[in-house]
Amino acid sequence: AALVRMRDVALAWGNGVTALDGLTLDVRAGEFLAILGPSGCGKSTALRLMAGLLAPTRGQVRRDGGLTAAGRVGFVFQDPTLTPWSRALANVRLPLDLAGVARAEANERAAAMLALVGLAGFERAWPHELSGGMRMRVSIARALATHPDLLLMDEPFAALDEFTRARLNDDLLALRDQLGFTVAFVTHSSWESVYLADRIVIMSARPGRVLDEIGVTAPPGRG
Ligand code: ADP
Ligand code: ADP
Repeated sequence: AALVRMRDVALAWGNGVTALDGLTLDVRAGEFLAILGPSGCGKSTALRLMAGLLAPTRGQVRRDGGLTAAGRVGFVFQDPTLTPWSRALANVRLPLDLAGVARAEANERAAAMLALVGLAGFERAWPHELSGGMRMRVSIARALATHPDLLLMDEPFAALDEFTRARLNDDLLALRDQLGFTVAFVTHSSWESVYLADRIVIMSARPGRVLDEIGVTAPPGRG
């Protein structure tokens, strides 16, 4: 079953730039999909279409009905985009607040998610007190707070040093085993895509479409 089905999708911006032209791609339930391609080929645009944040100029984007309710899709960007005047816990609680979860329960669930990403004890920390890797962990906890079915990640670890990046890769795989969400992960790194993904889709230069697809059966470090 597909959570998102994109068929012959084109997206042209108002300035005349055609970001995507003829993109056909599914995000299959349960998979870890990596989307690999040169800068500017439309990877971020494709994620925004999957999230329902943009509508295609041509073609079809069909999203599973379950994705339409609040909190069913999580988004992680390269910049952790934390609210600087909110503590770690309040940052993670944000999507729960938006989904109308009562304060006490939201606090409990946000704290549990912070613990799952390895930040138990950091509930009251301010974003500026945390390292880059820890801020990314808060950002992941926020995206997962509502237990979404689909996690969209846009070059999340590209700005981190290699050691932090390697640890986050492993911890992301462990979280996914534990929580069972589907992932669509945009990256420039072929190494990272092979390490993380079940399936790699390679996009052509702008305007983006799928050039090729690789199934990964037993990536290093995976059972
Ligand atoms: P990628 O994520 O693969 O680097 P993007 O999806 O960000 O690519 O961008 C695809 C193309 O669309 C690029 O040429 C980019 O400059 C252009 N683009 C992205 N966002 C906008 C926007 N809001 N308005 C106009 N052009 C945009
Ligand atoms: P950066 O992302 O800036 O490279 P790291 O994420 O590697 O930094 O962490 C920098 C500092 O924060 C280190 O001293 C590390 O021990 C500490 N740190 C990182 N994550 C945690 C954690 N989950 N619990 C406690 N300390 C942590």
